[in-house]
Amino acid sequence: GIGMEYVYSDRVKNLGGNAIREIFKLLQDPEVISFAGGFPTKTTLPTELIADITNKLMTSDKAQDILQYGETEGYRPLRLASIDYVKRYGIENIDIDNTLIISGGQQGIDLTFKSFVNKGDVVLVEDPTYLASLHILKTYEGVPVGVKSGDNGLDIKDLEDKIIKYNPKVLYVVPTFSNPTGRTYSVENRKAIAELTAKYNVMVLEDDPYSELRFSGERVPSIKSFDKVGNVTYITSFSKTLAPGLRTGIAIGAKEVIRKMTIGKQATDVHTCSLSQAIIDYFLRNNSMDERLEELKAVYLEKKTAMLNAIKKYMPAEFRYTNPDGGLFIYGEFDESLGINTLEVFPELVKKYKVAYVSGYSFYAGENKFNTLRLNYSNASLEQIDDGICKMGKFFKELLAAKQ
Ligand code: PMP
Repeated sequence: GIGMEYVYSDRVKNLGGNAIREIFKLLQDPEVISFAGGFPTKTTLPTELIADITNKLMTSDKAQDILQYGETEGYRPLRLASIDYVKRYGIENIDIDNTLIISGGQQGIDLTFKSFVNKGDVVLVEDPTYLASLHILKTYEGVPVGVKSGDNGLDIKDLEDKIIKYNPKVLYVVPTFSNPTGRTYSVENRKAIAELTAKYNVMVLEDDPYSELRFSGERVPSIKSFDKVGNVTYITSFSKTLAPGLRTGIAIGAKEVIRKMTIGKQATDVHTCSLSQAIIDYFLRNNSMDERLEELKAVYLEKKTAMLNAIKKYMPAEFRYTNPDGGLFIYGEFDESLGINTLEVFPELVKKYKVAYVSGYSFYAGENKFNTLRLNYSNASLEQIDDGICKMGKFFKELLAAKQ
């Protein structure tokens, strides 16, 4: 036939799509109840507030500056406001040159790997980890290696062994309400991670989009707050606290590292959308984030509780699952001996019962686990949560019965 033969770069030629992004295509059917993505509850997105702030900004004397090209490092007022904002994570003693406004946490991961990862370089990750970090790493031809973890965080012995064995460039972690497990590392674990990585000259990327969504338990300081040598880059995002469509987050790091990430960002998107940055800056200065968080958390806690109740009621007794203190996800598993492959059966569940989760298989750097799945509770309504888990329960009970 005629047509172009596309000869892709080595970097991308073997890349599959991000599993979750691909799932979204399956979920176009409006009847499907999705526990798959990590979308905030739609009704919590602050439309009136954003309309009001935008109107104020666009009728102010700063309007044209906001619509002009801006600095790559970010909108200065927001960078200054972020110095104050990150005190809530225990991050002190920084100035504006330690800050970079990023187009979502996702870009912070991208710019970090862009800055540090050569082809073949090892990046250590918790196993399982946020799957987009694996996807981004692949685009830089880095090699993810999983570190064992438990309820209190990373297995420090395994971390040290793997640092010695692989000489990794970066350790990537989501230490608070991790995606996908919902787990939170203890204070001691964070200190140990900061000390060990400093000792061996390993960069840490601390990805923290969820810690503000805490319903119960005590706040834990960031790993960054224990950073004595400048090896930890901390990123957070306004996606889960304000609105993901604004595509705005904050990176805090050593000045040299922030400078390198800035150079990378110049090539990527010049700067984060100035209107989004100005809206968030206005919000932080004139509204109460804490008040908004209280409202959000009430909604999410109610949904999490509804999902846990539905799981108890409808899922087979063999299903084990977490009860996170915050974040957006419940992680569940069937014992491997039961032979349930959550990836393989997924299309059937969507077709037959119109319910979706994310199979855990895609979250692993090491050996994939096909017996796990992640459930999001923020996207569906309370009725859908009950209905969807009921259908999922029926589906898995049928599967288990067929195996006996
Ligand atoms: N890191 C983690 C752990 C996430 O779960 C997400 C989004 N779900 C992101 C980063 C990226 O989010 P955003 O780019 O919207 O800030």
